Amino acid sequence: TTQLDPSVQVSLKEKLKDIFGFSQFRGDQEAIIHNILAGINSFVIMPTGAGKSLCYQLPAISSEGTAIVISPLIALMKNQVDQMNAFGINAQFLNSTLTKAEMSKVKKDTLNGTLKLLYIAPESLTKEENLDFLKKANISFVAIDEAHCISEWGHDFRPEYRKIRGIIDNIGNLPVIALTATATPKVQLDIQKNLQMEDAHIYKTSFNRKNLYYEIRPKADAKKQLIRYIKNNKGKSGIVYCLSRKMVEEIAELLNVNDIKALPYHAGLDSQTRMHNQDAFLNEDVDVVVATIAFGMGIDKPDVRFVIHYDAPKSLEGYYQETGRAGRDGLEGNCLMFYSIDDIVKLEKFNKDKSVTERDNARHLLMEMVSYANLGVCRRRQLLSYFGEYQDKDCGFCDNCMKPTEKFKAQDEIVLALQAVLQTDQRFDAAHLADVLTGTENQYITSYEHHNLAVYGKGKEFNETVEFWCSLIRQITIYGYLDKDVDNYGVLKLSQKGQNYLNDPYSITLSKDHNYEIDEEKAEDE
Ligand code: ADP
Ligand code: ZN
Repeated sequence: TTQLDPSVQVSLKEKLKDIFGFSQFRGDQEAIIHNILAGINSFVIMPTGAGKSLCYQLPAISSEGTAIVISPLIALMKNQVDQMNAFGINAQFLNSTLTKAEMSKVKKDTLNGTLKLLYIAPESLTKEENLDFLKKANISFVAIDEAHCISEWGHDFRPEYRKIRGIIDNIGNLPVIALTATATPKVQLDIQKNLQMEDAHIYKTSFNRKNLYYEIRPKADAKKQLIRYIKNNKGKSGIVYCLSRKMVEEIAELLNVNDIKALPYHAGLDSQTRMHNQDAFLNEDVDVVVATIAFGMGIDKPDVRFVIHYDAPKSLEGYYQETGRAGRDGLEGNCLMFYSIDDIVKLEKFNKDKSVTERDNARHLLMEMVSYANLGVCRRRQLLSYFGEYQDKDCGFCDNCMKPTEKFKAQDEIVLALQAVLQTDQRFDAAHLADVLTGTENQYITSYEHHNLAVYGKGKEFNETVEFWCSLIRQITIYGYLDKDVDNYGVLKLSQKGQNYLNDPYSITLSKDHNYEIDEEKAEDE
C-alpha cells in the first residue's frame, strides 16, 4: 500500500499551491507522487499535456537529496530547469555544453544536497566521471522521461536509453519513475522489461483526444487541396508535416506565394533560424509552420487548430504524437492526412539499408499505418485499439464515421477466420491467415504444412482476395474478437469474446476498405 502520513498529504497540497500555483491535483498525480515517495517503482503512461512532469517534480522537492531526471533533449531539460528556477527551486542540468565552473557548481550542489532536480541526458549519464560523483551523492529517485525512447517499437528510439538500468544499479538501489506519452502494449512491455520494472505500479490514462477530428484524403492534387484547406482556416494556427527537408522548403514557399504566412522548420536549418521560426509561430507572426517531425517535441502552443500530414507518417505512434499537437486547449483540432500508396513505397525504400530486424520492425509499423488509412472503421477506434484501448462504440466524429464507406454483413466469414486462427495454433499474423484462407501457395504455407488444414482455401467460397481477408481479420481485432500477442508482434489469438462468438455466432456489420487509388483518379478527373 502507498498510504502516507496525512501530514505529508497536507504538505504536498500546500507545495502544489505555494510552488506551482495549482489548487488541485489532476488525474492520478497525487497517487503517483505518494507511490514515488513510498519508494515504489511507478510507470506513468499519459498523453502529452496531461501533467506528467509534476509527478516527479513535486516528490523531488519533497524528498531529501537530489532526484535524477533523464531526458532525451537539451531543449526539454532547459525548459524545465528555467521553470523550476522561476519557482525558486534549485534545478540544474548536466551536459557537455557546461563550462568548468558551471559543472563544478552542479557537482557541489548535488553533493551538499541543495540541488533538488538534476536533469541529464542518457549519453552524459554513461560518462565515467559523472557516474563517480553520482555514486557519492544522496539520490532520492530516478525519473526517466520519454521512456519510449528505450524501445525500437517506439517512434524515436535512442540506443543509450537501453543502458539506463545498468547505470541506476551502479548508483544505488533507487526507486524509478518512467514516463511516456506513447505506449502501445508492445512498447509498454519493452520499457518494463528493459528497466526491469515488471513490478511497477502502472498509471495509464486514456489516449482518447475527443476534440480531434481525424480525416484522410487521397493525395491527388494535394497542393491545391492544401492551399484551399488552409485558406478556409484563415488566421488559424496550423502545422504541416512533410517527410523531407526539400519538401518542407517547397511547401513553405508554395504557401507564401499563395498569401499564406508560413515558415519552414527542419533539422537542416541553423539553430538561429529554427529558433526564430519557432518563435514566429508561437507569437503568431506566422500562421503556419511547415516542418519535418523535428518540430514539435516540447512545444506547447495550446491553440494549434490543424495538423496536416502532407506525406504519410512512418508509424501510427508518430501520427498520434504529431496530430496530438492540435487542440491542446480542448477546442477545435483538425487532423488531415494526405495518403498515397506512392508515399508508402518511398518510406519502405528508406528502410533498405537497415539491419534485418530493424527493417522488419519498421515495416510492421508502416503496415499498421497503411491499415489505418485503408480501413473503413472509425479512426478513433482504430487508433485507440492500437494503444491497447478497447472502445465499444464508433466515435461519430471522424471521416469514417461521418462519411462511411460501404458496409456489409458478415458471420460465416468471421467464424471461418476465427477457425483459421485456432487451426494455426494462434501463432500467426493477419497476412499469413489471409494466405491460408485464400489457399495461397508460398514457402511459409508449405513449411508449416498449412495447406493440409481444413480451413486452407476455404475463404474462396466467400471472397477471393487476400486484401478482403486481411481487412476482415483486422476489423474483428479492433472489435475485440482477437487479441494481439504483445510478445510476438502481429500474432493474433482468440479473445474471450472471440471464443464466445464461435460458440454462438451472430451477424456483424463490417466496412469495405477505402480505395484511395481509384479516389485519386476520380479527383484528378474533376
Ligand atoms: P506532459 O509532460 O504530460 O506533457 P506537462 O507536465 O508539460 O505535461 O503539463 C502540461 C500542463 O499542465 C503544464 O502547463 C502544467 O503546468 C499543467 N499542469 C500540470 N499539473 C497541473 C495541475 N495539477 N493543475 C493545473 N495544471 C497543471
Ligand atoms: Zn469515428
